[in-house]
Amino acid sequence: MALVVQKYGGSSVADASCIKRVAQRIVATKKAGNDVVVIVSAMGDTTDELLDLAKQVSPLPPGRELDMLLTSGERISMALLAMAIANLGHEARSFTGSQAGVITDSTHGRARIIDVTPGRIQEALDLGQIAIVAGFQGVSQDTKDITTLGRGGSDTTAVAVAAALEADVCEIYTDVDGIFTADPRIVPAARQIPRLSFEETLEMAACGAKILHLRCVEYARKYRLPIHVRSSFSTREGTWVFTDPKTEGTEMEQPIISGVAHDRSEAKITVVGVPDKIGEAAAIFNTLADAEINIDMIVQNVSAAATGRTDISFTLPTNDAQTALTALKKIQSKVVFDSLLFDDRIGKVSLIGAGMRSHPGVTAKFFGALADAGVNIEMISTSEIRISVVVDEDDVDAAVNAAHRAFDLDADEVEAVVYGGTGR
Ligand code: ASP
Ligand code: MG
Repeated sequence: MALVVQKYGGSSVADASCIKRVAQRIVATKKAGNDVVVIVSAMGDTTDELLDLAKQVSPLPPGRELDMLLTSGERISMALLAMAIANLGHEARSFTGSQAGVITDSTHGRARIIDVTPGRIQEALDLGQIAIVAGFQGVSQDTKDITTLGRGGSDTTAVAVAAALEADVCEIYTDVDGIFTADPRIVPAARQIPRLSFEETLEMAACGAKILHLRCVEYARKYRLPIHVRSSFSTREGTWVFTDPKTEGTEMEQPIISGVAHDRSEAKITVVGVPDKIGEAAAIFNTLADAEINIDMIVQNVSAAATGRTDISFTLPTNDAQTALTALKKIQSKVVFDSLLFDDRIGKVSLIGAGMRSHPGVTAKFFGALADAGVNIEMISTSEIRISVVVDEDDVDAAVNAAHRAFDLDADEVEAVVYGGTGR
């Protein structure tokens, strides 16, 4: 008997018939002799609709109340799912994040999980019940307020609960058959990846592949918990994410490039005319750190000989841009830079693959493909297993397709099926 944790995303529980179908799947897993814990997201686009509603009553809703509102989405789906399972003659109990023992810090909107104390879930399992847990939420250790983990956070709930229960596997059910070599909505010839290492998955998640929440992968890697990403609309084997497949003794030859990810959610800020002196960059990035802004790429140009000044550009989540600009304006007279430029019409395209460590020429081939597609590169950053470029927002689709083709990732036959969801 295994302990299986299953997470169903919003598109898998979008309406009553979806919920009934998922209930059948859960009952089948239970009947096969497993203990089952289920994490659910809010139905369909509920979270977005609740956010829209909040905006209608207040342009800047207090974080505490926004979290209170958003967590109601998962409470609806967890209760309905428990009812649907009961209707199939099996016992199920639903639990809010707080009841399930998901303890977080007090940062509303993007709380971090500090601990999971799943006493009530364990009790339910001991009684032979199926436990249903509301994803994406927890309770703050010190304020005792309800918190949310950030958009897409149910994945993280699932992995954290699975780790705390020492589950055998965490299955993440979504509306596609697994993790693909690119977003099938942009590259119809995208291929499903059968197995992927934690580090590649981390890079993919960090680079905008919407398939898994970044923190969920970090968590899974830390606890070495295998994740199986698969579709709730089919019974096909999905993508297995675990410790580097090469060290796990598989015979399969890994491709050099595992996938191409893209991200349109970032913006670029350029600090123009920064004096080329020791400590200036530190002053700028300290200011941004104090404002709790996560910087992604940074480029500093060579300073112009005539002026001794340079431009520093960086990318950040578009949502944080206003805060960053305000914080930087406050230090303009101290750092004595000329001006600030803001551009939110950018996109990031990333090539990811552990194989690039041992294969020269990957960068040249990538840039050549972009050039052939008429795409201009604005910024570049790399890690050991990733190359990312910033391009004009309008060029993202062309760039992703060009890179996908250049590294022979295109499937011979279209195999990516998007079963549901609005991709919102
Ligand atoms: N319902 C939340 C969201 O849409 C959490 C999740 O789906 O994982 O972001
Ligand atoms: Mg959702």
